[in-house]
Amino acid sequence: MNHNYKLLTPGPLTTTDTVKREMLFDHCTWDDDYKAITQRIRAGLLRLAHVSEPAYTAVLMQGSGTFGVESVLTSVVGPADKLLICANGAYGLRMGDIAQHAGLNYLLYRQADNRRPEAAHVAQLLREDPAITHVAMVHSETTSGILNDIESVGRVVKEAGRTFIVDAMSSFGGVDIPVEQYGIDFLISSANKCIQGVPGFAFILARRSLLEQSAGKARSLSLDLYDQWKTMEQDGKWRFTSPTHVVLAFAKAMEELDAEGGIPARAARYAANQRLLTERFAALGFRPYLDPAVQGPIITSFFYPAGSTFTFREMYDYIKARGYVLYPGKVTEADTFRVGNIGEIYTEDIEQLAAIMADFLKEAGKWAS
Ligand SMILES: *Cc1c(COP(=O)(O)O)cnc(C)c1O
Repeated sequence: MNHNYKLLTPGPLTTTDTVKREMLFDHCTWDDDYKAITQRIRAGLLRLAHVSEPAYTAVLMQGSGTFGVESVLTSVVGPADKLLICANGAYGLRMGDIAQHAGLNYLLYRQADNRRPEAAHVAQLLREDPAITHVAMVHSETTSGILNDIESVGRVVKEAGRTFIVDAMSSFGGVDIPVEQYGIDFLISSANKCIQGVPGFAFILARRSLLEQSAGKARSLSLDLYDQWKTMEQDGKWRFTSPTHVVLAFAKAMEELDAEGGIPARAARYAANQRLLTERFAALGFRPYLDPAVQGPIITSFFYPAGSTFTFREMYDYIKARGYVLYPGKVTEADTFRVGNIGEIYTEDIEQLAAIMADFLKEAGKWAS
């Protein structure tokens, strides 16, 4: 097995050796040291979001990111409520899927994958339908790499007095998000994205008053956000078995984010990676799927060069054998592949990838002729 590649994917991503080494200890779950680690993580997450107690609080939830999204939607949208979901990719549509499964009353605002949901349209939908109580949208739509405008949408949601839920899974930690200033009531992200931990839990930053109002509304026992919070709030104890190794790794990853210079420094590194990637790939004939005005700094979708005949698999295998793995495309209306640039990835890696890709294109040109 080749254990020597780096992930150019949108998470799980390449982590540091020091983060991975934290997982070599089997920690007791009811021990005070462990509870203190959980509390430190929760406090640290609030700081990263520019919010504080008592207005906001943080909840950690076992499972992947989707478990966090499902926990919020099925815990805070009550039977008398109606949810507006703004979707311009697979993760927005997944929120629709969650709402469908839970039998929530919801409305889908479907935008094209290469366009942002528009605040003016959200405002209009809210005027037309006073029954809508909650609005949910994705920040960085990992499907395409588009960075949605949560600031403008948040403003109209707040002006209309509704609750704003943001899936910031692939952006939190890699893009600075002033949560309260943007009017966000519930923000969801997970351990294995831009904080650079490993997979195993999601986290939710919640406006405390609204979280408290959701008591008793959850449709699921294990994903009950309020109950999870109630237990955790006492002294940092998780309600059910927690992913102890993942929690230790995450605490380390948060320290390393601080040491890097916090979110501004990490955001600058990711943005520099993304810019260089686009430049080097353009020189090789790869055109990005998105307009630069809406392209985010996390992951980029590229079209295959005009006239190319190689498959994603051939390209993937060639590059994997040389130390990097790419991601298949996910937008429905175009034939693309994706390159993520988050995690322990630096401009040297992007230069290296571009060199490997140039070699691959030469090889692939020979097969075609
Ligand atoms: C990664 C991600 C999720 C969660 O996916 P999981 O596979 O459940 O971890 C949700 N939304 C977005 C935008 C993501 O990038």
